[in-house]
Amino acid sequence: MALQPWRTGKVIRIENETADTKKFWIEIPEIASFDFTPGQFITLDLPIHEKPNKRWRSYSIASWPDGTNVVELVIVLAEFGAGTKYLFENVQVGSELVLRGPQGVFTLKEPLENDIYLICTGTGIAPFRSMIHHVKNHNIPFKNIYLVFGCRTQSTLLYYDEFKKLNEEIPNFHYIPTLSREQWEGKSGYVHPIYEALCNERQPANFFLCGWKGMIDEARKRITDMGYDKKAVHVEIYG
Ligand SMILES: Cc1cc2nc3c(=O)[nH]c(=O)nc-3n(C[C@H](O)[C@H](O)[C@H](O)COP(=O)(O)OP(=O)(O)OC[C@H]3O[C@@H](n4cnc5c(N)ncnc54)[C@H](O)[C@@H]3O)c2cc1C
Repeated sequence: MALQPWRTGKVIRIENETADTKKFWIEIPEIASFDFTPGQFITLDLPIHEKPNKRWRSYSIASWPDGTNVVELVIVLAEFGAGTKYLFENVQVGSELVLRGPQGVFTLKEPLENDIYLICTGTGIAPFRSMIHHVKNHNIPFKNIYLVFGCRTQSTLLYYDEFKKLNEEIPNFHYIPTLSREQWEGKSGYVHPIYEALCNERQPANFFLCGWKGMIDEARKRITDMGYDKKAVHVEIYG
């Protein structure tokens, strides 16, 4: 798809999701419907630097295509981060944000024949939230979808109640949150042993990895070490 023009969006709602993560809803009044494929992102041009390319910050779209001109983003405050400091301290309901999108190729390719592993940490859950609601809303057939979601503690689990409900509502969708710094009734530890155990028979699968580089590099290595082709591994690296 050709690069979309810069547009002016208006923040219409902001909510805290966890202590350091906020959800922003942005309306794009100049278009009737913001069309995108689940998994894509938008880029914000934030007034934090004179050089344009130093002002740009990308965010996966956490909502799903619903025929409206509103997108939801879920953003974690980065320590010493210029863009998130601006978003958390200066942006309010009614603020305008310059944005471009949709962009990106981190999307599910139909038909969804193989098992699908969606592996993420933190706000890396955003594109997967969009994909899963889309699959549900359109009754898109699939074999199994495993969402392996790593966080530090229960208090940092994003969209927890929503995913627990989706887990009950969608047959063969498996929501597997795991906590690296807390014991609880669910899984504890990093994401890696979880998908390794689930794929122990090397059944045909596609892997989608989203989040920060450390987790992605490790997962990509472990998945290919298990014998999967690197073409089965799709990544969206946040930084
Ligand atoms: C395709 C894509 C999608 C993304 N989607 C999301 C999303 O949905 N949600 C989300 O939260 N993020 C997402 N990101 C990440 C996002 O684009 C930003 O990189 C992130 O929000 C940090 O931006 P920032 O301007 O606050 O940090 P930056 O200013 O860019 O700094 C990045 C990091 O460098 C370090 N740093 C910067 N300055 C200093 C300093 N002086 N001293 C020490 N350390 C320093 C900080 O630790 C900071 O975390 C995505 C990235 C990509 C590429």
